[in-house]
Amino acid sequence: MCDPRGAMKIAVLALQGAFREHIAMFRRCGCDAVEARLPGDLADIAGLVIPGGESTTIAKLIDRYSLAEPLLDLARGGVPIFGTCAGTILLSRNRNGCGEAFLELIDITVTRNAYGRQIDSHEADITLTFSPEVPYNALFIRAPVIDETGDGVVVLARHLDKPVFVRQRGILAATFHPELTDDDRVHRYFLEMIEGKNR
Ligand code: GLN
Repeated sequence: MCDPRGAMKIAVLALQGAFREHIAMFRRCGCDAVEARLPGDLADIAGLVIPGGESTTIAKLIDRYSLAEPLLDLARGGVPIFGTCAGTILLSRNRNGCGEAFLELIDITVTRNAYGRQIDSHEADITLTFSPEVPYNALFIRAPVIDETGDGVVVLARHLDKPVFVRQRGILAATFHPELTDDDRVHRYFLEMIEGKNR
């Protein structure tokens, strides 16, 4: 369980995908978590989550609701952003063989849906560098693979020799779905990042 953080407002982009589960997890952590659909919903937030779902759909809706500039403004203003799965694809600087340039806020190269068919969706125990004592059960759902990380990208967990959880300053990205488990260590890491407790 997390400490009370009632004053901390976290917005979860709620256009499509697994946003409700993120909100539930942040509320469980004591935060004021809200759904964001319009630029005005991004006012006064301490952090933003771009959830998993379908990256092409979320990208279209971001365009439709004129959210790209406001999202980039948040990053420019130093508001931490956390992408999970499709959210990671939208934050990536490069995408191998798919998709147009998007927010490009973290220096990683990803390939969409790159796990073979048999493990298209699977769970696996991974080790979080900041909490290595207890394995973390990660859920991968048609997840992207992170093929390359640029200088300045810190790898916080790996799976099958590839990074699956990475950070570059104020941008955090996971290829799995931390909101679909009971383990709140990943969300807590993001909150500590907002609080400047881990650098
Ligand atoms: N396969 C999806 C995509 O390419 C991502 C899946 C997910 O977010 N669980 O956008």
